[in-house]
Amino acid sequence: MSTGTAPDTVVEFRAVSKTYPGGVAAVRDVSLRVRRGELVAIVGPSGSGKSSMLNLMGSLDRPSAGRVLVDGHDVAELTDREVSALRATRIGFVFQQFHLAVGVPVLDSVADGLLYAGIPLRRRRARASAALGRVGLGHRAHHLPHQLSGGERQRVAVARAVVGGPAVLLADEPTGNLDSASGAAVLALLRELHAAGTTVVVITHDREIAAALPRRIEMRDGRVVADSATDPIGAHG
Ligand code: ADP
Ligand code: MG
Repeated sequence: MSTGTAPDTVVEFRAVSKTYPGGVAAVRDVSLRVRRGELVAIVGPSGSGKSSMLNLMGSLDRPSAGRVLVDGHDVAELTDREVSALRATRIGFVFQQFHLAVGVPVLDSVADGLLYAGIPLRRRRARASAALGRVGLGHRAHHLPHQLSGGERQRVAVARAVVGGPAVLLADEPTGNLDSASGAAVLALLRELHAAGTTVVVITHDREIAAALPRRIEMRDGRVVADSATDPIGAHG
């Protein structure tokens, strides 16, 4: 591959830094690799740079220095149009606020996850229906978001994120707006998707959530201070 990245690598950071206009260094010289099929927690206190990392991984933002490789592509070498295509077809996003369109039946919100793929509406709806079944909400397809609980809305958001079979699912504080039972259900869903082969990166400030996931990358002040995959001591968790 022209980027020289290993074929089983989904996301790679090479000495990546992100400094925002105004001078805040949110990410400082981070190198890491997420392999296909991993379930990774990025954990750290508020302001440690987690969301900035996710925005870089998801090609929502470009680094100030270093290289970001996503699904084999060096984001810096793509045009804006190509980055949009990469994001729409190869990356699934879940955010703390579920971002479901008001007044739109959830089946159509999930089907919208396939808009970019140029699939006819009928097939988009069929795939959306299957994705809703996967998250345990097949019976809610024609409901509107306000008719669902927070936990159900987040499961819809997960269905939308995975309906196109992305290379990686990026979740930024996916349980941040949920009570503990609904949060646990969303985490269980992410674990199920991982068990079925989806690559998942979960951002959380919650050490308990992170502790339950197979790999933990810990951030402080924009730096990775521990990574259970590479830390031979493994005593930071
Ligand atoms: P976390 O998700 O861990 O809370 P963030 O990545 O959101 O951390 O923020 C890291 C640092 O970067 C913080 O100091 C934050 O205020 C700053 N920051 C985040 N986004 C922006 C932005 N768009 N412009 C300027 N500063 C930002
Ligand atoms: Mg954040």
